[in-house]
Amino acid sequence: MSSEPASAPAPAGEDGAGTISKKQAKKEAKKAEKAARQQESAAAAGGAAQTDSGESDPLAGSYGDIPVEEIQSKAVSGREWTEVGDLETGLADRTVLIRGAAQAIRPVSKKMAFLVVRQSMSTVQCVVVVSKDLVSPQFVKFATSLSKESIVDVEGVVSVPKDPIKGTTQQVEVQVRKLYCVNRAIPNLPINIEDAARSETEFEKAELTGEQLVRVGQDTRLNYRALDLRTPANQATFRIQCQVEHIFREFLLSKEFVGIHTPKLISGSSEGGAAVFKLDYKGQPACLAQSPQLYKQMAICGGFGRVFEVGSVFRAEDSYTHRHLCEFVGLDVEMEIKEHYFEVCDIVDSLFVAMFDHLHKNCKKELDAINRQYPFEPLKYLQKTLRLTYDEGIQMLKEAGTEIEPMGDLNTEAEKKLGRLVRQKYDTDFYILYRYPLALRPFYTMPCHDNPAYTNSFDVFIRGEEIISGAQRIHTPELLTKRAEACGIDVKTISTYIDSFRYGAPPHGGFGVGLERVVMLFCALNNIRKTSLFPRDPQRLVP
Ligand code: ATP
Repeated sequence: MSSEPASAPAPAGEDGAGTISKKQAKKEAKKAEKAARQQESAAAAGGAAQTDSGESDPLAGSYGDIPVEEIQSKAVSGREWTEVGDLETGLADRTVLIRGAAQAIRPVSKKMAFLVVRQSMSTVQCVVVVSKDLVSPQFVKFATSLSKESIVDVEGVVSVPKDPIKGTTQQVEVQVRKLYCVNRAIPNLPINIEDAARSETEFEKAELTGEQLVRVGQDTRLNYRALDLRTPANQATFRIQCQVEHIFREFLLSKEFVGIHTPKLISGSSEGGAAVFKLDYKGQPACLAQSPQLYKQMAICGGFGRVFEVGSVFRAEDSYTHRHLCEFVGLDVEMEIKEHYFEVCDIVDSLFVAMFDHLHKNCKKELDAINRQYPFEPLKYLQKTLRLTYDEGIQMLKEAGTEIEPMGDLNTEAEKKLGRLVRQKYDTDFYILYRYPLALRPFYTMPCHDNPAYTNSFDVFIRGEEIISGAQRIHTPELLTKRAEACGIDVKTISTYIDSFRYGAPPHGGFGVGLERVVMLFCALNNIRKTSLFPRDPQRLVP
């Protein structure tokens, strides 16, 4: 935070290099002044230096466009920058220097204009008002000539208005003394950020008053993602995604898991099935990994005990749905178990409860930002996660009038309905369904000891939609081969995997989570494309 005139050098020692001598400090100060002067003269050269009557404006150096050469890593001025999000009332009367995007430019008169500057999720109102020896009418004109989303440097004095400021996150203003445009945005942007940030409630209100509002469709958003990502809800979504990943790693590291990286270029498919992207690997047929499944198990055979991976997963999905992408981020776990796959469920339970607790406690600002555009009910979850058997789930659906084929798969609608029933009965949106029929699980899943028609497997649901699949895996090569053959897999294509179990392999289990799904369902967003930075789906490969 700046407490000095913005063009002053950084105080001695602030760069972490220890205390510097007075002589050095003086030298630094001179350098900083020189750099600031250079910026001013550069601006005067590129900016509105002339008055309307043709006279030169003595304040021309205080505003203007900065030529690119000036920010071509030419000098390190040592000037102190303040983050927009740090502009608080405690900085009143201080001079600050900020950089951000000109989100809104509102001319009031020839003598006054407002500029809203945005940096990440924070916005501040900057006031450009004519004032003797500080701001000329040409200065105001320059401010109003800026195009929205242009990048600007603003130097000014922090003031605290009497009334709360609507529409900006920061409750102070900056009385502008200097204004430089670092990079102009084109005047007609394909998406207006204000439009992209509107909530359904705003559309409903506008309908009542007859106001015409622009609705930005999902495809347009994705086509111009670099603009779309600037909305508060999008800024918040990807910050939450980052926290989900962070807690995943942090929690598992605290439980002695080892982070690994498995290959994404593989021969043969990882799970069987057709949903792979095929490619040519120097003349050999290969494909992109549809999960790290076989390799994370081989890492367990390799003696790591407990492993996790965060990495891209590729699925050549054919159908265009709200929850399937062709590339997503897999959060994968595999671990030795002593006797029961519930040891794996226990990890799922404590990991996700820790994650949800963390998000509710530490991401309030982000959750509020998403809520303002896409209102949602906070996730309900129990401190000890509910576990129901697949058969219990089917029974609940039957009692509610939904018939499921015996031992059959739950379609999306049935899963969602079960989610609602579980919420009514157990007051939770997060639960584990376990003991799935054998026919519904991949070949490497361990059958149940008491009934081989069922497996030691589980799925985990948020708001009635799957976010995790997990199971105990088969650790004996004979059974593994038998099950692979029964599932129609050519065992020759996975011989190195099966061989890994011939050299002594511990009993183990694990699970796979889709990162984008977790964020989508935690925030009750309706489309997985909203939680993928640059989504890849059957119809989209750009940007
Ligand atoms: P679904 O039944 O929803 O198609 P799946 O059973 O194929 O999922 P798994 O192969 O078990 O999923 O993958 C584990 C997790 O990876 C899923 O629970 C989900 O969170 C995520 N996932 C799977 N496929 C996709 C996809 N195409 N796009 C995004 N996430 C996915």
